[in-house]
Amino acid sequence: MADSLKETALALGFDAAADIDVATLKPQEWVRSECAENKCQAFNKNWTCPPACGTLEECGARMQRYRRGMIVQTIGQLQKDIDSRGYAEIGLRHSENFRKLAEEVKKQYPDALCLGAGGCRVCKQCAYPEPCRFPEKAYSSMEGYGLFVTQVCRDNGVQYNYGRRTIAYSGCVLYDQKDEAEE
Ligand code: SF4
Repeated sequence: MADSLKETALALGFDAAADIDVATLKPQEWVRSECAENKCQAFNKNWTCPPACGTLEECGARMQRYRRGMIVQTIGQLQKDIDSRGYAEIGLRHSENFRKLAEEVKKQYPDALCLGAGGCRVCKQCAYPEPCRFPEKAYSSMEGYGLFVTQVCRDNGVQYNYGRRTIAYSGCVLYDQKDEAEE
């Protein structure tokens, strides 16, 4: 099944897909503190971002409910060292493919936890703090859950840096929930 999920991810257009060990998903306070600096303007403004997505402990416990995980990457070439248009285009490709992947995964694993790159952008403006308009489509980011993507890649033997003038966006899918007795 894991192989078929990877095949699905690659067929959707991701450049890399690999299994990850859920035990390597270790939320870190400093990652969350970067969210609090609010560079992306989503802190305390989006259901899928901190603080609304849960405390670091809650996010950590939620991830550890799963037996298996997969990381996917979109790798793109930049035209110059700082290429705002390139970041945006490659990021959009990643987000659109991740939304499709999440839909496919949830057909097999309705309780899967999908963590993309950047918080939910389904609505032009998030309804927060009013109820989420499309909870079935909303997903948090790996960073929002306190994950340092470089560490997750390193601990799972996945390349993260693809060289000068490249950018890699990552997301992960956790699936196959443990039984209560296993938790
Ligand atoms: S679906 Fe809309 S309301 Fe819900 S988290 Fe995403 S942006 Fe916010």
